[in-house]
Amino acid sequence: CGIVGYIGYREAWPIVLKGLKRLEYRGYDSAGIALANSSGQHIYKKVGKVAALEEFAEDKDKTGTIAMGHTRWATHGVPSDRNSHPHTSNNDKLSIIHNGIIENYATLKEELSSRGHEFKSDTDTEVLIHLIEEIQKIEQIDLLEAVRLALREVTGAYAIVIMDKENPDRLIAARKGSPMVIGVGKGEYFIASDATPIIEYTKNVIYLNDNEIALVTKDDLLVKKLDNVVQTPLIQELQLQL
Ligand code: GLU
Repeated sequence: CGIVGYIGYREAWPIVLKGLKRLEYRGYDSAGIALANSSGQHIYKKVGKVAALEEFAEDKDKTGTIAMGHTRWATHGVPSDRNSHPHTSNNDKLSIIHNGIIENYATLKEELSSRGHEFKSDTDTEVLIHLIEEIQKIEQIDLLEAVRLALREVTGAYAIVIMDKENPDRLIAARKGSPMVIGVGKGEYFIASDATPIIEYTKNVIYLNDNEIALVTKDDLLVKKLDNVVQTPLIQELQLQL
């Protein structure tokens, strides 16, 4: 339902948490945030309001300059802690947040199960991150390429953000049929499902188009189409009033 991501030089948790609150108007049943710092990757998620997530994480490690958060409107799997996003790959190294529906998830899940994947939730979303992991393992390719190939196997609508525990200096975002905005700062980028979480930090935004995939580091942005053609993203000025 709602997506917020941050990569840059500031503490990411407060930015992402505030962004999720700004997206609360859309309605949701649970919330979660993944972040990375020198001690590893941490995922906190809770059914209920963003305030419940905030309370749950109160005494936990929330430091770090990369994070992504999600408010969920359940479509596949009941609202619960374990069905809340972010979801992780079989080896827990990759994590994903997702708006939308992966329509062919059942077929993919069956295939992945037969290859030894064990699922920790009932969501369509978790299937996608396992698929990406499997493709990366088989093809021995980088994560961006694995995400690109996986998305070519998927039917449905999505806006996704992916984090890699072993490369906590990048976020991968993609969309098809579900909105995604990238805010461009100096030494930082913001990602969100609409501009409301971004407007207080930067007015320069890129609207990702359908079938585009973005590799975002704190200083750089690469956008490709799913057919692998590199795009020159158009930076637009937000007209929204605060
Ligand atoms: N289909 C996903 C789920 O049920 C994502 C729902 C959403 O857009 O929040 O978990």
